[in-house]
Amino acid sequence: MTGKPKLFGTNGIRGIPGKDYTLEFFIEIAQAIGTFFKKAPILIGYDGRNSSPTLSKAVTSGVLSVGLDVYDAGLLPTPALQFAVRTLGYKGGIMITASHNPSQYNGVKVMGADGVEVSRQQESEIEEIYYRKKYREADWNTVGEAYSETKAISNYLQGISKKVDADAIKRRAFKIVVDLGNGAQAVAAPYLLEKLGCKVISLNGQVDGDFPGRGAEPTPETLQSLAAAVKATRADLGVGYDGDGDRSVFCDDKGVVQWGDRTGALLTDHVLSKHRGGKVITTVSTSQVIDHVAEKHGSKVIRTKVGSVDVSREMIKRNAVFGLEENGGCCYAPHIPTRDGAMSTALMLSFLAEHRQPLSKLLASLPTFHQRKEKIECPRSKVQGVMKALEKKVSGKVERIDGLKIWSGKKAWLLMRPSGTEPVIRIFGEAESKAELDRLFDQYLPVLRRAAKNG
Ligand code: MG
Repeated sequence: MTGKPKLFGTNGIRGIPGKDYTLEFFIEIAQAIGTFFKKAPILIGYDGRNSSPTLSKAVTSGVLSVGLDVYDAGLLPTPALQFAVRTLGYKGGIMITASHNPSQYNGVKVMGADGVEVSRQQESEIEEIYYRKKYREADWNTVGEAYSETKAISNYLQGISKKVDADAIKRRAFKIVVDLGNGAQAVAAPYLLEKLGCKVISLNGQVDGDFPGRGAEPTPETLQSLAAAVKATRADLGVGYDGDGDRSVFCDDKGVVQWGDRTGALLTDHVLSKHRGGKVITTVSTSQVIDHVAEKHGSKVIRTKVGSVDVSREMIKRNAVFGLEENGGCCYAPHIPTRDGAMSTALMLSFLAEHRQPLSKLLASLPTFHQRKEKIECPRSKVQGVMKALEKKVSGKVERIDGLKIWSGKKAWLLMRPSGTEPVIRIFGEAESKAELDRLFDQYLPVLRRAAKNG
């Protein structure tokens, strides 16, 4: 709606309850979501944040008030809720979570009947209902009824085990260190890994809304205790999840924490070996190492805007088999075309079981690209003008999927895109040589800085 602030960001609605959003807001946005869904039942679940139980009750009230029945799935990972919506006959789902954000944040993710986050267009429809206050209000005798859903987690673990060769994994009896980060996968992933015959060593395994272990975001910096534990125990693999368990970041047997595009390339290789000619979806900012692997299998990589919703929706549109982001989000369509940390872990184990080589060796077989990331401050009001000014200065092959992606030859690129969450423009580049990468940054960074300064 023009003139009204957008509520949905890159991934759902997020903010600090009590500061950015009142409790009434959560009731009303749930009324809007319920009005949008029209049909029942709706499944509601939440992550381990301190504000989650309260917000879940507010959201439940909102949905009941528009006359829809609600089932409470309790505390679980986001992908477990999504899989339950898809497979247990729900007409929609709402997850109370702020994913990897710090503990004071919370928010909602909204899933359609297929378990996938609603599309950008549908997000706008929900916002429109919210701003116009056009809620369907049920009478006292037609309000919805509230029930419990107790099978969501067992259904999820079973669903994942069926998508991999569990016997082949069991035969290898892998040792795996799992850093649950006090997040929601603590109630699911360790049980899955035990089911797959792994010897499991858990770190930060108690759900705790303050995320006292290492924070809710898994990155090479925050996963250093995982890396140390993998080395100390001589484990085959380490894995760390984000707060709501949809992203997984892997650590190899040498104790090196890997970014998602390199481990994602191995998973792409594994998936395409089982689904010949399958399509792969990833964002404009993911490394071309994915294309390298896909080419080997005669498959095509299709790029989207940055954001997992865009990846998932494009997967459905193109009937793609695999989707990924460089932050460790992987979507395996035969399971569900949304990010799933536990499914990705099972795929990694399946890959390792098949290749009989340590992960560090398998990673070394991939081509290496140099990468560099920068950002410059730019107030939101100036962003469009700056990007327009920049557009006049670029030459050669340019892609406009999200921001500007400038290619230099076939294997070097620079992506400049306004952030969806902060008042900055991000600059991300990749090339085969460091010299080529620095040359691209030297060419465009001053142009961007000047444009931002002059506004
Ligand atoms: Mg997440």
